[in-house]
Amino acid sequence: MASDIKTGTPDSNASGKTMSKVTNIAVLTSGGDSPGMNAAIRAVVRTGIYHKLNVYGVMYGYKGMIKGDIIKMESKSVANIIQRGGTVLKTARSKEFYEYEGRKEAYNQLKKHNINGVVVIGGDGSFKGALAFNQEFDIPCIGLPGTIDKDIAGTDFTIGFDTAVNTAVEAIDKIRDTADAHDRLFIVEVMGRDAGYIALHSGIATGAEHILVPERKTNIEDIVSALQANERRQKLVNIIVVAEGDAYGGANEVSRTLKEKVPHLDIRVCILGHIQRGGSPSCIDRVIASRLGFAAVESLLEGRSNCMIGIVNNLLQYTPLENAIKDRQKIDENWFNITRILAS
Ligand code: ATP
Repeated sequence: MASDIKTGTPDSNASGKTMSKVTNIAVLTSGGDSPGMNAAIRAVVRTGIYHKLNVYGVMYGYKGMIKGDIIKMESKSVANIIQRGGTVLKTARSKEFYEYEGRKEAYNQLKKHNINGVVVIGGDGSFKGALAFNQEFDIPCIGLPGTIDKDIAGTDFTIGFDTAVNTAVEAIDKIRDTADAHDRLFIVEVMGRDAGYIALHSGIATGAEHILVPERKTNIEDIVSALQANERRQKLVNIIVVAEGDAYGGANEVSRTLKEKVPHLDIRVCILGHIQRGGSPSCIDRVIASRLGFAAVESLLEGRSNCMIGIVNNLLQYTPLENAIKDRQKIDENWFNITRILAS
């Protein structure tokens, strides 16, 4: 291992070690896709082959696992994918996997290929599935955080967040140009059903005047007062970045209220939507995904199971799936002070 790749001391609670030797592993992507998943798949496949394991790809997440949609992966199966968004293994959501019977069928399908190690790349829902599966059956599971939302505890990064946030930044920069030309207030909605990290980072990076996130109660009267104060000093261009899961109701609802309260402002809404999921992964996402994919296979070989591998302070961190699911990342209130002061 190269000397500049640091490995953290594994959390002593992070999973029991399994005793049987891992020979055949499967990798799957599950839940929402995120840019960088392909780089992670490539790393799992090539590290597995390096260690002389048989590596399988499960198509369409848990849905494909239940159906037995499982293919043998070779080194060339993952050629030329590191730069591509989406996931070559496809992804899906599976109602059947919530039920024991569905998970049992998935187990039977894996057993047909003698699979004795699974790498799940996905979000917290996918980890809940992996945890349930791992508790019922004797196949070790390792989770890699693959979600644009960065809403998983136990890691400073999730695969896809950096790309998604850069896509949002590029779009908001363009919106600011047109806002500036017309002296408009733009309300830009970014992704984040339960987590405001895309809104927070893209808002700070684009100098947004206000950032609204699910983790914090939105005070619309404060925003109205700030807009009126800006107007008095001829600051007519304003950007409000709203996470889709903001409790006030998203960009359209914020716009409706502001149009009532400050009717003379020229207000427009832009909902960025799914462009935030697509596109070529950033360098950071490719590097994180490669490192985590590599670590996932090494972890299975070391006998690790039932944990998510993340990166904290540039060290690999192993978090029990239970904790990765339970604990959510919090947003420090200081970020909002910084935003307010810098945008004034
Ligand atoms: P994203 O963060 O992008 O939404 P996710 O992994 O959280 O990704 P989910 O749709 O929540 O996406 O979960 C993916 C799949 O994981 C579900 O369709 C289901 O098959 C499985 N899953 C989720 N929760 C559970 C659970 N409690 N028990 C069993 N399986 C689950």
